[in-house]
Amino acid sequence: MSSPSEVLKKQFGFDEFRFEQNKIIDTVMAGKDTFVLMPTGGGKSLCYQIPALLFEGLTVVISPLIALMKDQVDALRVNGIRAAYLNSTLSPNQQGQVMRLVRNKEIKLLYIAPERLFSRDSEFMELLKSSGISQIAIDEAHCISQWGHDFRPEYLKLGALKDEFPDTPVIALTATADKLTRKDILEKLNLKAPETFVSSFNRENIHYYIEPKKNSYARLLEFLEERKDESGIIYSLSRKSTEALAQRLEYDGFSAKPYNAGLEREIRAHHQELFIKDKVKIIVATIAFGMGIDKSNVRYVVHMNLPKNIESYYQETGRAGRDGLKSDALLFYSKGDLNMLRDFARVDDNAEQTDIMLEKLNKMADLCEAMTCRRKFIMNYFDEEHDGNCASCDICLSDFEEIDGTIIAQKALSAVARLNESYGMTHLIDFLKGSRSKKIPDWQKEIKTYGVGSEHTKEEWASFFNDLTMKGYLDQNGGTYPTLSLTEKSWNILKGKERLSFLRAVNRRQTGTDQSYERPLFDRLKAVRAQIAERENTAAFVIFSDATLVELATWLPQKIDELSYIKGFGETKVERYGHEFLGEVVDYCRENGLKSKFKQVRFKQKAKKSAGARSNTKLESLKLFKDGLSFTEIAEMRSLGVSTIETHLSWFVGEGELAVEDIVSPEKIPVIREAINEHGWAALRPLKDALGDDFSYGEIKAVVEEVKGNG
Ligand code: ADP
Ligand code: ZN
Repeated sequence: MSSPSEVLKKQFGFDEFRFEQNKIIDTVMAGKDTFVLMPTGGGKSLCYQIPALLFEGLTVVISPLIALMKDQVDALRVNGIRAAYLNSTLSPNQQGQVMRLVRNKEIKLLYIAPERLFSRDSEFMELLKSSGISQIAIDEAHCISQWGHDFRPEYLKLGALKDEFPDTPVIALTATADKLTRKDILEKLNLKAPETFVSSFNRENIHYYIEPKKNSYARLLEFLEERKDESGIIYSLSRKSTEALAQRLEYDGFSAKPYNAGLEREIRAHHQELFIKDKVKIIVATIAFGMGIDKSNVRYVVHMNLPKNIESYYQETGRAGRDGLKSDALLFYSKGDLNMLRDFARVDDNAEQTDIMLEKLNKMADLCEAMTCRRKFIMNYFDEEHDGNCASCDICLSDFEEIDGTIIAQKALSAVARLNESYGMTHLIDFLKGSRSKKIPDWQKEIKTYGVGSEHTKEEWASFFNDLTMKGYLDQNGGTYPTLSLTEKSWNILKGKERLSFLRAVNRRQTGTDQSYERPLFDRLKAVRAQIAERENTAAFVIFSDATLVELATWLPQKIDELSYIKGFGETKVERYGHEFLGEVVDYCRENGLKSKFKQVRFKQKAKKSAGARSNTKLESLKLFKDGLSFTEIAEMRSLGVSTIETHLSWFVGEGELAVEDIVSPEKIPVIREAINEHGWAALRPLKDALGDDFSYGEIKAVVEEVKGNG
């Protein structure tokens, strides 16, 4: 008999368990009831799939997401695991066939919708009882609770399972449940002394960026330009705006389709299918999109508008990066959106509920406005500790300068005082900036403080006001548009008894993609995968996740046995698809004079160890460069692509750490500068197109950084 880790390697092709997967599996194997709370993409499925393979009999998996069952079963089958599903999408004939498979004990896992289990004829239940089931897995377990955000009445019946199968271990899994919902789930399911596993909600591979909503379409294009071959979701508030934005993106050369509840059913389903099969890269959607989408290679999520609370933001951004690869979440924030959402937050005839919604919305706005690590803010919101400094959010990636804020604070606080503590931030800022708007009554324009703040932008003032509130120099007084009032501490500033300073972000770094692998090969491997998916009539990510293709494009295996070192290649997949992928890798390496990286095993281990300190990867390249190594040597040494090293080093040109001449040969520099003059530097692609193959992205980037640096 094999062990869980052997099954992990042999059937699924993974080397190590994640989070507490192994403990969870041990608990289920010991026959205990188990509750698992793990974020999306954490790897919940293996927690019951591995026991299913180790147990004698059948495992029944209950899931409300009928649309996903086929993918889930396909994913098992391509790993050589016998599984089937039973739901209303199957013809009576097909259903009979599945029943036969159960009766003859020919499958290890059966996926079913909850209503199936207790359907009128008890034949099915009898069949299950007589065929001996060894485990029951309940996916999306929060659906059983009214406290959760997705209550489904048919889930309530699952409470009877423990009576029907008293000796069978039940494992309940969910990605979203607060404490109240959690308790409710355990009670409603009648679990017997369950062991509970709660994983951290930190999604380390998702990088968070929140930017002021200014020229957002241009900024979006720039962001998308760097991710042209990746899949992403763009959330927009209204049905109309999703359609308009998708159209505009198509016009600008992107592959984008809208998705919203107003579209006809078939069109909606069609767009979703195109997206899942990687035939369309971008879905522009209202928040209706996502529930029931299990696409693992979504590389980015963009919010054009403010989400209505942090729960939604976390859930929506969480649809990126389920395969564990670096993914980006970009949100455009504006006060205008906030005010608009305040109107939406009102729940008719329910003041209490309205207050809760407004409170949650304000928290979301705080996240956008605070100068603290976004990740820390989100974690803390979910009652989890985080020390900040995540090195993967816009705040942590920014440099700050400390400025003396005493005079600024005096101006802000005196504006509050002079306007009798009865105005909100927006008005106060207009007042300080000396706005000529009619909203500022004439008597206010007479006051000395009017217009004394013109040297700072509105955004800067907003951040000063938020800082002052957070530090206790101002109080916010509830309601839809909170007014600001002074505190005891304010007077120390106003009387000049106390000084204070503000942090101001300087040169916010752009979101970038990590390209430490052979990108062209990756694209070719995607094409191979698409062919196979087409042939087997399934989604590409069912065959392999992007993570596996990235590994192939990193390690460049040349022999079939080297494939078993690649994450995601279990025995069945090596046998079934090994040669097809290997052929592509071998061809590519021959064309480009590359070799397998497996011989440098020592490097592999080193690379693995340093993966945690990825933020220092640029510094590492800089150090080697300063040691006198060439680009190729550094690339070789670090098992990275030459273009990655160029990108790393060009970044230091922007920082003033390196001169552009250090990186780009002198005769090329004026040519690149000229191209920049003509095309601007908002996006690299047009520059690259204009300059051609003799100029690498790294070289172009270095000159762009230099030009930017010189203003
Ligand atoms: P969840 O159901 O929690 O959202 P999944 O079970 O779908 O997550 O797993 C997400 C992804 O992570 C899948 O692509 C899966 O193959 C991968 N995965 C799960 N466990 C591991 C592991 N131990 N090592 C590597 N990849 C894993
Ligand atoms: Zn951070």
